[in-house]
Amino acid sequence: MLNKRGILIVVSGFSGAGKGTVMKRLMEKYSDDYALSISMTTRNPRNGEVDGQHYFFVSREQFEENIGKGGFIEYAQYCGNYYGTPRDYVEKQLMAGKNVILEIEIQGALLVKEKFPDTLLLFVTPPSAVELKKRLVGRGTESMEQIEARLKRAVEEAPIMDSYDYIVLNDVVEDCVDKIHEVVGTAKCSADRNREFIEMMKNELKELNEC
Ligand code: 5GP
Repeated sequence: MLNKRGILIVVSGFSGAGKGTVMKRLMEKYSDDYALSISMTTRNPRNGEVDGQHYFFVSREQFEENIGKGGFIEYAQYCGNYYGTPRDYVEKQLMAGKNVILEIEIQGALLVKEKFPDTLLLFVTPPSAVELKKRLVGRGTESMEQIEARLKRAVEEAPIMDSYDYIVLNDVVEDCVDKIHEVVGTAKCSADRNREFIEMMKNELKELNEC
């Protein structure tokens, strides 16, 4: 039996790339295989966002207290707010065999990869910069000033795409979801993630030959 433990997957992408929509659909379509980590943040909820569902919305004091307790796998500041991944939930789900998805920005992604080198890093992007701006404006949740800050941030983030394992285009949501599922399936079969199985086969074959 190949490794039953789930794998840790980081999904990043420019703000406005449609990661939220893609993740929601991935969870609906392949619900048995994945668990989505819910981050903690100090930013204010957007219209329609629910505490405990989209994020755990907390004050800076609460966030910093949790940093002190070692409660995060990683955390980062993004456009003036803290964002972090709570440790307990992630560990429980991995043990239960779920592939755990962290939808986090690049600083956090690289920290996670450093701490857990077998993390799969996926970068979701629209097919062009013009399309990115169109989506940011179209969702109507940020002011023009915030959109400009997010586009500037995208310029800084773009070179870091090089550090990711796979780049996944989000042109049609359904195709993007299927591509992610396919990439994860392939990653789970990698020899690196199945060292225990390889050892077991080697030993069993040796024993069989000795009889
Ligand atoms: P937004 O404010 O648009 O929800 O998120 C801003 C950015 O923070 C996005 O790139 C999102 O992926 C990232 N983010 C969300 N949760 C976390 C987290 O727990 N850690 C880190 N490092 N980034 C996060």
